[in-house]
Amino acid sequence: MAQIINGKEVSASVKREVAEEAAKLREEKGLKVGLAVVIVGNNQASRVYVNNKKKACEEVGFQSFEYALDENTTQEQLLDLVNVLNRDDRVNGILVQLPLPSHIDEKAVINAISPEKDVDAFHPTNVGHIMIGDHSFLPCTPAGVMRLIESTGTDISGKQCVVVGRSNIVGKPQAMLLLQQNGTVTICHSKTKNLKEICLGADILVVAVGRAKFITGDMVKEGAVVIDVGMDRDENGKLCGDVYFESAEKRAGYITPVPGGVGPMTISMLMKNTLTAAKQQAGITD
Ligand code: NAP
Repeated sequence: MAQIINGKEVSASVKREVAEEAAKLREEKGLKVGLAVVIVGNNQASRVYVNNKKKACEEVGFQSFEYALDENTTQEQLLDLVNVLNRDDRVNGILVQLPLPSHIDEKAVINAISPEKDVDAFHPTNVGHIMIGDHSFLPCTPAGVMRLIESTGTDISGKQCVVVGRSNIVGKPQAMLLLQQNGTVTICHSKTKNLKEICLGADILVVAVGRAKFITGDMVKEGAVVIDVGMDRDENGKLCGDVYFESAEKRAGYITPVPGGVGPMTISMLMKNTLTAAKQQAGITD
């Protein structure tokens, strides 16, 4: 039976580290860290995420600036706001909550955020930095996954790592981070053949597909570390992951639950990125 990786606990320890450093910056340098969160429209899930981010800012002692814009906001108006925030010294990090309404080009908005304030690490400049391994910010969800793997004491070097999913926000950067830790990485997607065989070879299996209970226990190698990024709904509308937990936990060595696994990590890594941004903007290099 697998050991459960407690994402809430690991996330709390990241937030404690961030809060301590933020307090030191306030006391020693008079620096107050600030995060601006922009939301457009009435997407209920987005509202919940934005509230959680605001709460996390309070927990770690950051200022948060919330901009809730009307569904009919034009792309030009949104770009204007991003430009104002780029120049606002109180704002160290800018996060535009996705998805945006369909009349707004997400790429144009991401590209308008100053790379120094791009705490989601979605800007092409930051994506490039991740690719060559000299990054300031790591994308929040894959960075959270790395912390969870680290919490198991698993050395990634030389391990067979399989990432199922190749999205720009999870799968691709995840594969890159595992590669940088000297994992031997395979990326799977919807056209992959023999998915089961490939997964069965994984010492570390990270799943980000967006399909409820897609990876079943018979696809998991005995003793593997299984990280489930998925946030799906099962047939009864209950929150669940991409991994069929009940069968996978019988074979895995370590496994994340949903909820309480990767989810809480994403926000704490966002806080960490915002702290990093504030330090860099203040010229603090430690
Ligand atoms: P996405 O952009 O929809 O990407 C899904 C990926 O899964 C695609 O690369 C797709 O392949 C692949 N895929 C689909 N069907 C497949 C199949 N039958 N076999 C193998 N691969 C298949 O999703 P995402 O944004 O990466 O998110 C994935 C999941 O993670 C979602 O449940 C999302 O809600 C969750 N998520 C959670 C957090 C968190 O904080 N916990 C953060 C982000 C996302 P193709 O490229 O070939 O289409």
